[in-house]
Amino acid sequence: MENTLGEIRKRERTSNGIRERAGTFSETGKRPGTFNEIRKRAGTFNEVLARAEAGHNLTRQELLVLLEARGEKELQALFRAADRQRHLTMGDAVHLRGIIEFSNYCRQNCFYCGLRAGNGKLRRYRLQPEEIVAVAKEAIALGYGTLVLQSGEDPYYTADVLCRVIQGIRHLNPEVAITLSVGERSYADYRQFRAAGADRYLLKHETSDPQLFARLRPGTSLEARLERLAWLRELGYQVGSGNMVGLPGQTWESLADDLLLLQELDVEMAGIGPFIPHPDTPLAGTRGGTLEDTLKVLACARLLLPFAHLPATTATGTIHPRGRQLALQAGANVVMPNVTPAEYRPHYTIYPNKICIAEAASHCRLCVEGMIASLGRVVAKGPGHSPKPAFSVTNSGKE
Ligand code: SF4
Repeated sequence: MENTLGEIRKRERTSNGIRERAGTFSETGKRPGTFNEIRKRAGTFNEVLARAEAGHNLTRQELLVLLEARGEKELQALFRAADRQRHLTMGDAVHLRGIIEFSNYCRQNCFYCGLRAGNGKLRRYRLQPEEIVAVAKEAIALGYGTLVLQSGEDPYYTADVLCRVIQGIRHLNPEVAITLSVGERSYADYRQFRAAGADRYLLKHETSDPQLFARLRPGTSLEARLERLAWLRELGYQVGSGNMVGLPGQTWESLADDLLLLQELDVEMAGIGPFIPHPDTPLAGTRGGTLEDTLKVLACARLLLPFAHLPATTATGTIHPRGRQLALQAGANVVMPNVTPAEYRPHYTIYPNKICIAEAASHCRLCVEGMIASLGRVVAKGPGHSPKPAFSVTNSGKE
């Protein structure tokens, strides 16, 4: 098994990389100059990295200097800086979020996702509200302080049905943080969820390039996505967004824009993971994102968003056996173990070969705790709200 980033890079360098996959349809991804021209204008790698650590504000050109870090020395310097920043602002404790994937039905047809409505090969399932609450009860008993309720965009769960679930969990434990990740809904729905006791909402923007977004998510738009993120902010949620790395047609410029968008949104959470092509989608056979590229974007996210919760995503752990550990050493401070009943897990295949689909929830927890201890870190206690003053005590409750 490859163990060092150097070894991983050697393999990835031969065939993959954002630069090679840059498409022609990306308008927002226009390149502002050659590699050398950008470094001449923005500063050397070390100068830009020092500016990032000191001020957490970079221009698009400066971000490109970090994203296009070259050579082991620059890469390690970037990851170490992100790790230092994580230690300073978020501490050494790693927050665990138990994720319940309660339905794999989806009305959308995103090109990159195995749950897309057009995938006739997927065995679909739905958990009933009382089943979801029962799973939540087990997760709380295992010590989870945050539960993430995730599904495809499934209209079966009306606002009233989901509110029953939220209230059921609140009734079990008033302190547990409830995060929703159920896609695009109406303002009235988001308001109702919040009033019922939902604390956080995850709605990844996926890509900040409007053309790439429209191409990969037919029938939806980046504009509508951003409008919903603004609604969530207005309603007082802790807001999470994020993007994929390595999408066909994506450029480093586009990824720099992703990071600037996350900063502009001032998100409390940002999920950054590699694109992994699914065989039963229109993107079957394309190349996926690499570990190195994903870690670079993650590290830059930590430098721009010093107070955000950044997960070491399961997708990162899927493309490399030590992906999550390396992410935890490049700015991440959260892991999201799966607490979905084992019988359903193999069918929540947004991407293929997902790790941790056979283990019991209790085993996953132990395994993740061991992984965290092996890095000299500890598991955080409690709900792990955003450290921003507005959310530091508790966010649960009514408007
Ligand atoms: S990415 Fe989300 S909205 Fe798109 S098909 Fe998959 S589950 Fe549905």
